[in-house]
Amino acid sequence: MTSLEKTTTITTIILFAWLGFVIAWERISPYRKGLPFFREGFWVDLVWYTLIQSFFLKILIFSYIIAPVQHHYGWNGVKFFQSWSITEQVLFFIFTHDLYIYLFHRWQHANKFLWRTHEAHHSGKYVDFLAGSRSHAVEIIINQTIEFAPIIILLGPDSPVVPIKAMLDAAFGMFIHANIDVKLGKFKYFLNSPELHLWHHANYKEVFHANFSTKFSFWDYMFGTIYDPGHKPGDRREDWGLYYDFPKDYFLQHAFSVKRFDEQKLLKYKWFRFYYNLRPNIIKLCLEPFKKPAKTQAPEPERLIDDVA
Ligand SMILES: [Zn+2]
Ligand SMILES: [Zn+2]
Repeated sequence: MTSLEKTTTITTIILFAWLGFVIAWERISPYRKGLPFFREGFWVDLVWYTLIQSFFLKILIFSYIIAPVQHHYGWNGVKFFQSWSITEQVLFFIFTHDLYIYLFHRWQHANKFLWRTHEAHHSGKYVDFLAGSRSHAVEIIINQTIEFAPIIILLGPDSPVVPIKAMLDAAFGMFIHANIDVKLGKFKYFLNSPELHLWHHANYKEVFHANFSTKFSFWDYMFGTIYDPGHKPGDRREDWGLYYDFPKDYFLQHAFSVKRFDEQKLLKYKWFRFYYNLRPNIIKLCLEPFKKPAKTQAPEPERLIDDVA
């Protein structure tokens, strides 16, 4: 096993342990009470965004974007950065990338074209540990290329910083979106938390241009974009997510970012009806064998007496 494979295995184990911890934390101390585990959009976020999209985009970003560039220019690391300890390297890339992601995220909220690549992330009405995974494919391609290309170019393709950074991203993403009631006290000026990021997902005009930070909250305090009123957004479904209708299906969500459409109006077309009902029909078909047979109703006693009479 190479040292890169070893690091990848350890970071994966840590991530799964953290996942279990966050899920338990959500049950013990929820931010919004009564939010179901299998909430609306759970399976789209898990199957399409977390598993399928991230699997294919990882191959695209690392093997078809970063690797060809790195091979073409023969970039195999810069001695200056390679001489640093792993901790120093990780901290350097976390800090620089976090500033980039703050600025780009802020730009996505300010620019109509870039908003189309980010609105999916805001579309969930129920924000929890899994909600952060909902990111438009283009957003992921831009952000992860900009995140990992400098690491590979400056440290080399076998740098353990890649899996360590990827694990920290996923763990932090779970944390800031988790439905947990946590107060960081004075640390909130330094580290981001659900206390600040859940407001970013609320359907409130005041927060549409606020709380852009990912890992370090000090960017928002420094650049004057913090929104921290000291209370929670409402518990109602309408207080969260987007103020306009957004498709629930993965492919329709991506199509919607290119061309706006009204799902209800499109339902008059046979091909759309077929596609629209395809997923629910497949799920229904799969669940069919597990359905309990309907109980045959016993005749009402009065009727029985009537019949005898
Ligand atoms: Zn946002
Ligand atoms: Zn978010």
